[in-house]
Amino acid sequence: MSKESRRREALVYHAKPTPGKIKVVPTKKYASQRDLSLAYSPGVAEPCLEIAKDVDNVYKYTAKGNLVAVITNGTAVLGLGNIGPEASKPVMEGKGLLFKIFADIDVFDIEVDTEDVEVFIQTVKMIAPTFGGINLEDIKAPEAFEIERRLKAELDIPVMHDDQHGTAIISAAALLNALELAGKNIEDAQIVISGAGAAAISCSRLYQALGATRKNMVMLDSKGVIRQDRDSLTPEKAEFATHRKIDTIEEAMTNADVFIGLSTSNIVSPGMLLTMADNPIVFAMANPDPEIEYDLAVATRKDLIMATGRSDHPNQVNNVLGFPFIFRGALDVRATKINEEMKMAAVKALANLAKEPVPEQVNIAYGETRLTFGREYIIPKPFDPRLISQIPPAVAKAAIESGVAKHPITDWVKYENELLE
Ligand code: NAP
Ligand code: MG
Repeated sequence: MSKESRRREALVYHAKPTPGKIKVVPTKKYASQRDLSLAYSPGVAEPCLEIAKDVDNVYKYTAKGNLVAVITNGTAVLGLGNIGPEASKPVMEGKGLLFKIFADIDVFDIEVDTEDVEVFIQTVKMIAPTFGGINLEDIKAPEAFEIERRLKAELDIPVMHDDQHGTAIISAAALLNALELAGKNIEDAQIVISGAGAAAISCSRLYQALGATRKNMVMLDSKGVIRQDRDSLTPEKAEFATHRKIDTIEEAMTNADVFIGLSTSNIVSPGMLLTMADNPIVFAMANPDPEIEYDLAVATRKDLIMATGRSDHPNQVNNVLGFPFIFRGALDVRATKINEEMKMAAVKALANLAKEPVPEQVNIAYGETRLTFGREYIIPKPFDPRLISQIPPAVAKAAIESGVAKHPITDWVKYENELLE
């Protein structure tokens, strides 16, 4: 298909038959006058009074507990940059669609017209009573760090900036499995991270939580290697500045075990891959075009373990493996946050799922014959029906064990059956 026909197909998909991708659907009967008198005045006053007496009743009588806000200011939309709130709306609606089809979570997409951090934070805080959770989306770094930090501290519902943590969780699961296949320990792995934005910083922090050591990590931004002696580093970049006296990506890649690309297209050459250690792990995740083309990379080294952000190659690091299921688990135990323990539980559950035998329906969905754990299958596929039955319980259990679940689940068999409905 040509680029132009793909463009037209996408525009028609969004425009016809109804503009946009999501709508609101009533969940109660509304056929008779009696139904309406319950749905609205006078009947509606009863749940209002119950909630006024005890605010927790809002979860009993309204849709709050299954409603997530996907909120942006449109400042870092996909790889398109700062295109503004209206132009970001198709992405936010798309996220709503994914939440719904993968985890049956309802979404209001909210596009806020401000680049002011404080105004954005106050806006989200003021509308938070509506929602069971907040998915921050496509907000540029470094503002996104402060926005998420403050909202997590100041709200008592789960808040997650998916561009940071979604990618971190999925790529961490893939990394654990890739290291296992390469026969390497995360503690000893020499890791190069290209990019120092929202995704790269959050990934690096999570890899550290999994055992990666800072002295073995080298991070690069658009100016080259981030060295400790560089002037005016942001706090996030300073956190990963290296003591090594090197400046270029070529130097960083020599003998590296892992390359994590969250920067921009075509900055890694075959020559650089050849200088990496044996069984090199290359996650070239810049979208839509990776740091090095998949075909070029795998042709350069037979011992490579490669992942990208793209669906047309094996090992797609796709956030959709995370956010629907993480929020599902968090909402179902009424977690007050999405904490490190819950993220780690999602990492482990995803990594383990990739090692289990793949159901035939997954092979069929992807036109594959025998997906099995190995270099070309290090993370589950999005249409794997086991995601919904395995990831939310793992997240929910971690929420309970870490003390952030207001409504702990006790009957796990019943819960897992409900997830499959
Ligand atoms: P971001 O916050 O804008 O960060 C981009 C970072 O890349 C910045 O730190 C920038 O450096 C750095 N950079 C730019 N050119 C570079 C170069 N030639 N060499 C090294 N670093 C360079 O964006 P983000 O949200 O973190 O996303 C970064 C990339 O990852 C995008 O392509 C995005 O599509 C991709 N991504 C993929 C996935 C996925 O596959 N699932 C998920 C998230 C993001 P400065 O700090 O100097 O500007
Ligand atoms: Mg995003």
